Amino acid sequence: MVDLVIIGAGPYGISLAAHAKSAGLSYVLLGQPMHFWKNQMPQTMFIRTNPRYISLSDREDRWTIDRFSDETGTPLDSPFPRPAFVDYAFWFARHAGVEFTPELAVRVDRTPEAFTVVTETGRRWTAARVIVATGLQHFSYVPDELRALPPSLLTHTFGQTDFERFRNKKVAVIGSGQSAWEAAALLHMAGSDAEILFRREAVQFAGEDNTATGLRLIESAEQFYRLPLEQKQERWNTPRRGSVALFLKPYVEGKVKTTGGVEIVRAETWGDGQARLTLTGGETRIVDHVVSATGYRIKLDLLPFLPPALLEAVEREPEPYHGFPLLSEQFESSVPGLYFTGPLASHTHGSAFGFVAGIRQACRSIIPHIEQGKTQMDP
Ligand SMILES: Cc1cc2nc3c(=O)[nH]c(=O)nc-3n(C[C@H](O)[C@H](O)[C@H](O)COP(=O)(O)OP(=O)(O)OC[C@H]3O[C@@H](n4cnc5c(N)ncnc54)[C@H](O)[C@@H]3O)c2cc1C
Repeated sequence: MVDLVIIGAGPYGISLAAHAKSAGLSYVLLGQPMHFWKNQMPQTMFIRTNPRYISLSDREDRWTIDRFSDETGTPLDSPFPRPAFVDYAFWFARHAGVEFTPELAVRVDRTPEAFTVVTETGRRWTAARVIVATGLQHFSYVPDELRALPPSLLTHTFGQTDFERFRNKKVAVIGSGQSAWEAAALLHMAGSDAEILFRREAVQFAGEDNTATGLRLIESAEQFYRLPLEQKQERWNTPRRGSVALFLKPYVEGKVKTTGGVEIVRAETWGDGQARLTLTGGETRIVDHVVSATGYRIKLDLLPFLPPALLEAVEREPEPYHGFPLLSEQFESSVPGLYFTGPLASHTHGSAFGFVAGIRQACRSIIPHIEQGKTQMDP
């Protein structure tokens, strides 16, 4: 029996564990440490956020990225290499005394008194509280028009770490955001003949200064929940227009063909193991592979470790945002003791929670709430 099980050992989970430790709560942190950043992203690319704003969080703000930089001699250059961010997260965990239990959670059940969490090895933990911090893992979105293609011809950008297998192949990348340009850049570097196809007329690039965006996101993480409803609605109802970081421009422009203002109306297997894409206007493309850089759609029901009874008990945000759990200011769902954070909280608490910008606010809201609840239950 522990006070708390945290599912997911990414930047959110690690920070939550550091806060739990400082609060004297017993916890189990489930998942391979930094698995997504370490093993599911292309190693050679950069983190988009300015490094000044990618600190994990501990209660005393001791193990910041600036301190990591000072102590290890790692320059805080922007764009910041992803492996350096992974090194920072492990450095943070070591200094904050975070302990990992590198096993996947496969099932969470609620009993009248507590939760039970079972892992892939069959270990069972009983906990008064559970925090789900599993990131984007289960939410890759592929549009219907592409789904007719078999997995050998179609992959989502999530989990693509190596584009070498596409050397000398023709590849269509669908999308106009950061992940599309990143995939196209890596495909070009790997020696494939890539083309980016997208709906918008033109690609939108982010401004020069990513410090302003970094700071603004952190501030919005702190403020969003308390904004008047009309302001929140305005933000929810404004379509999110992904933009591309400027540092990617030289890797793509003049190197990869980009075709805007088109939609895929049909995708089918063609000839001897190729894919044929029919575009609006009737043009076609025949390619060896299609990379869907089409982002993520959060849908609670896709979490494989929550059984139907528990999913039904979790109240949702109203339509059309029904995929998100409805959360309290402290990130607690309608099931007492069950918390969601990271991208799963990015509707109730705002878009900053789709990024590392929301970590500090999440930790400072959730852990004191659990601490307080424990004191009341067990004075
Ligand atoms: C290509 C790409 C680039 C990005 N770049 C940036 C950026 O520059 N800046 C930024 O702020 N954000 C960026 N993001 C967003 C990024 O996802 C979040 O900022 C960040 O990873 C959120 O941390 P997290 O802990 O919520 O999720 P994650 O880092 O994804 O960690 C969650 C962990 O939970 C694990 N997990 C899943 N299921 C289970 C289970 N059943 N049991 C145990 N563990 C489980 C996963 O393996 C994963 O390691 C990027 C996302 C993508 C896809």
